Amino acid sequence: MASEKNKKDISEIRQDPVKGEWVIIATARGKRPHAFSGTPATIADQKKESCPFEDPFSEREPSLVFWNDKSKKDWSLVVIQNKFPALEPVKAEKIRKEGPYHIAKGVGFHELVIARDHDKFIPDLSKKDAEILVLAYNQRYREILKNRSVEYVFILHNHGRDAGASLRHLHSQIIAPSVVPTDVQRSIDASEKYFSKNKKCIHCKILKYELKDKKRVVYQNKKFAVFVPFASKMAFEINIFPKEHEDSFGDLKREDMKFFADALQKALQKLRVALNDPAFNFFIHSSPKSGNHKHYHWHMEIFPKTSVWAGYEIGTGMPISAVRPEDAAKFLRGAKVQG
Ligand SMILES: [Zn+2]
Ligand SMILES: [Zn+2]
Repeated sequence: MASEKNKKDISEIRQDPVKGEWVIIATARGKRPHAFSGTPATIADQKKESCPFEDPFSEREPSLVFWNDKSKKDWSLVVIQNKFPALEPVKAEKIRKEGPYHIAKGVGFHELVIARDHDKFIPDLSKKDAEILVLAYNQRYREILKNRSVEYVFILHNHGRDAGASLRHLHSQIIAPSVVPTDVQRSIDASEKYFSKNKKCIHCKILKYELKDKKRVVYQNKKFAVFVPFASKMAFEINIFPKEHEDSFGDLKREDMKFFADALQKALQKLRVALNDPAFNFFIHSSPKSGNHKHYHWHMEIFPKTSVWAGYEIGTGMPISAVRPEDAAKFLRGAKVQG
């Protein structure tokens, strides 16, 4: 028995087959899955009375870009332009040089997706409201991408102060820059390289293997698979992939949105139960606007804040994760959530 234990505790170096990044799985540090459970990340000290998201209709009428109820009484979700945008929808200008540096105007879109209830988070939404959340992401994704100055539409969500959220009230962000972000470009380049060599989508290959192997699968429904990636950069990292090949999130079919919403809610419910409401970030990776990206496979990545990246991770880009992805998946599979 001792040799079995030792074998399991030897650290491993694993490579992400898409980006080629290496990670260290160092279970020898002795952390068991339940040890990642901490203090709940939900921001508790922000009261409804002083919340800027309580009445988006009266305060921000001109900047509303999506709402699910025309009467404006029974709304459950709206999208507004961010009052303090990181990027602004202004006319693009040429990149200019200043000594060794390149600069351009911060052109693009920055919107906020706001759910109605001050005290509900994504795992608490009704199935219908979770589907409306996905519908809003998707409609805004397609609409913003039509803009000439936009090259990429990035949908993200922060939960808890440790994940960078400053407000308690459930909201996601859509940031659409005029260039393709570096990490996305790397992921696109790698999948293109694999495709041109093997005439196959690397993500479809991974999905097929994961669904057969089952060790890292957390949950699945008819259309989506939820699993812990083989070379997780962060303990309890979770990926959600459409089972059928689709290169752009904009191609998500209306009838499949409920399945994506279900997969997202299940993943977040399980995280909350298993790790006592950890802080997390999630985002969608999808194809950029220009070029042919049929080789790409859009997906969502969820990163719970199970550790802080320190000097080693920042300096090397080679993270150390203290739980085996198979053990993390097993722990999450076992987390009991409502049907
Ligand atoms: Zn609120
Ligand atoms: Zn694929």
